[in-house]
Order: sequence, then C-alpha cells, then structure tokens
Amino acid sequence: MTSNKQPEVNIGLVGHVDHGKTTLVQALSGEWTDQHSEEMKRGISIRLGYADATFRRCPEAEEPEAFTVDEHCDDHDVDTDHLRTVSFVDAPGHETLMATMLSGAAIMDGAVLVISATEPVPQAQTEEHLSALDIIGIDNIVIAQNKVDLVDEERAMQNYEQIQDFVEGTVAEGAPIVPISAGQEANIDLLIEAIQSEIPTPERDPDEDARMMVARSFDINRPGTTWDDLMGGVLGGSLVSGQLDVDDEIELRPGREVEEGGQTEWQPVTTTVRSLQSGGDFVDTVTPGGLLGVGTGLDPAITKGDALAGQVAGPPGSLPPVHETFTMDVDLLERIVGDDGGEVDEISTGEPLMLTIGTATTVGSVTSARDDECEVALKRPVCAASGSKIAINRRVGARWRLIGVGTLR
Ligand code: GDP
Ligand code: MG
Repeated sequence: MTSNKQPEVNIGLVGHVDHGKTTLVQALSGEWTDQHSEEMKRGISIRLGYADATFRRCPEAEEPEAFTVDEHCDDHDVDTDHLRTVSFVDAPGHETLMATMLSGAAIMDGAVLVISATEPVPQAQTEEHLSALDIIGIDNIVIAQNKVDLVDEERAMQNYEQIQDFVEGTVAEGAPIVPISAGQEANIDLLIEAIQSEIPTPERDPDEDARMMVARSFDINRPGTTWDDLMGGVLGGSLVSGQLDVDDEIELRPGREVEEGGQTEWQPVTTTVRSLQSGGDFVDTVTPGGLLGVGTGLDPAITKGDALAGQVAGPPGSLPPVHETFTMDVDLLERIVGDDGGEVDEISTGEPLMLTIGTATTVGSVTSARDDECEVALKRPVCAASGSKIAINRRVGARWRLIGVGTLR
C-alpha cells in the first residue's frame, strides 16, 4: 500500500480553454479542481487549482499497461506498487488570466500541454501558454493530444502532425505527444509512462535554506468563531528549496504594509509554523515538491483573501531583498502571441506594465526605458533575488498581453 503520499514534483496542466485540463486532472486523481464558486459560475478556472495524483504500477502487468492510478489491478488481482505522488497545478486557460498561469509556472517542475484533437492547432492560449513555459524555462513537457474519442483516425493523424509542426523550434520540440481521451479515460497508462520518463523529480539539497513561494493565503475560520477556537492564518504554496518543519520560525517578505507617522512602509512578518499539510495529510516535515498548506500563528486577518499571495517565506534573515523599484534587462517578443497579436513596440517611459515575478503579480510604472533595460516603480513591492525572471505584460486594448521577459538586475 501507499508508503509516501507526499507529492514530490509539481506538474502544470496548461493549454487552451475547454481542451480538457480539468477533466484530465480528474481522470488522474479522482478530484475536481474547479472548486472556486466563481469558477463554477464562469466555467473557467480563475484561481490555480491543485490536485495530487499517485502513479502506481501493477507488478504483474507489462508496461505500459502496468501504469495506473488504481490501488488494485483487477486484471491480475494484485495490489499495485506506489511509484510517486505528483501534484498537478491546473492552470486557467482564459487568456486574460495569463498572469495567474505565469505565477503558477513559477512553482512548476514540468508541464503537460493539453491540446484538443478537435480543433486546428494552435488555438490562442495553446500558443500563449507554450511561450510562457519557454519564458519561465520549463522544458520537461509532455503533450496530451486529448479528445481523440471525438475524431476519426485520419483527423487524429492530421492533428498530430499539426502539433508536431507547431512545437518545432519551441521548448516543446521533441516532447512526446500522447493521444488520449481524458473523458473516456483512454491511454492514461501511456500518459503516465511519458510523465514518468519526461518529468523526473528534481534533485534537491535538504541543507539549503527553506524557501516557500506563497501562492494563496486564507482565513479558514468560520464567521463567528470565538477567540479560543480561532485558527491562525494559513499559507498555500510550494517549497522550492530546503526543508520546513513544524515549530520552525519563518519570515514573510515583503510582509505587511504598516503606517507609522503618516508614512506607510512594508515590514517583514515573522511567525511560527504550527502545522504542515501535504498530500492531504498533516505531516511534521515537508521537502520540496507538491503544494503545501502551512498553518501559522498569524492573525487570520493578515492572511485572508490571498492577502499574502506572491510573498516569499523562509528562515528569518535568509530571504532575498524587497524591491519597490528595480531595473531589469528586457527581452521583448517579436509579436504578441495569440490570434490577434500585433508587433511588440518598445517599452516607453511612463507606461504601466503588469509584472509577474515568482508567485507575485504587481503593476509597475516605467520610470526609465532604454533599448534592452528598463526601470520600474512598483505598486506593491516584491521579494526577489537578482537574476529572477519576470514576465512582462502590457495593456493592449482591454487586456494584459504578454510582451516579453525581464531579468532582475
Ligand atoms: P479545461 O477548460 O481545459 O479545463 O477543459 P475541461 O476539462 O473543463 O473540459 C471541457 C469540456 O470538454 C467538458 O465538457 C469535458 O467534459 C469535455 N472533455 C474533456 N476531455 C474530453 C475527452 O477526452 N473526450 C470528450 N468527448 N470530451 C472531453
Ligand atoms: Mg479547467
């Protein structure tokens, strides 16, 4: 039976809206990631959804049929062996929500690009998400050619060739393309086999300082909870290095905006780790991989409503600097990706940009722009190390569109 349910790797599910990302996560994990009430209403994921899946292997079956998510192999009447638990980050497909996708990308070790066999390739977000993977530097990619149950063999082959042509020259060139039906749960074994070989668990150094990228923060108390029963604020996110233990002290940066003598400034917040949740279980220790929940001693008023999303946590004194302004080297795309993408004009002084750094998204105003570098003043400061990648979005019409990538000086 399962020995270790703690996920050890984060895999992004990316691709065009309605191509079957959420259905695939469900087929692999038995969970539905669309839990957000607003998502239900709008039918799209507006927040990153998380779901863990445990890959298993039937000891009596041949590969690839041996790969499964079931605990029992009915064909051979034996229990299956645990291979590893992975955490899927179900990224939203809607193009205006590109920034959320990019902030999820910061905690992804690899990605499954879901492409529907029923539509010409590429659709707008298929292209946009692939260039985001490129920018963030995620090159462990498996392509799931989904909904093959809805097309005949000839169309499936044509679509397969379109996918091959489309990924040529990109970060996904050479990635395996696995025809599946998430809806019918067909070829899931082949997909697991491809993920096992293409998206390995990264090697980690347990002696490094713990570094957590905070993607969400919550107040888990019901309204009207009395002080005695009040639970501290909860952080959701991913550990990218080191190890975190219950009772550890952690610092969060940039922290909180506080007012002192008419001046507002950002001050780091320090707290204690009260509980750790990973793979659906409470644990004493977590190592990188998977998405975790950290129960803290913080006043839940500080954490509610994702107030600390985008922050970084680690041992006090170990975190990178906080920037309210910074200079970045800029690489602009030639064209805006997507169906109506035009040429990308140079960045000009005074223009607003939406910047995603790690799990933080903030609007910055350009204070000086030269050919390949620009200086920005941020609305909300960010905690980031020199060399961090920055996704740069510009307002085009009514939407923020990805125009390039920056590197923090
Ligand atoms: P997402 O926007 O990428 O998360 O797409 P969803 O998983 O929500 O799927 C969109 C629609 O396609 C839903 O109605 C699914 O039931 C349907 N769907 C997903 N995968 C398949 C498949 O493999 N075959 C068929 N026939 N329908 C599918
Ligand atoms: Mg979805």
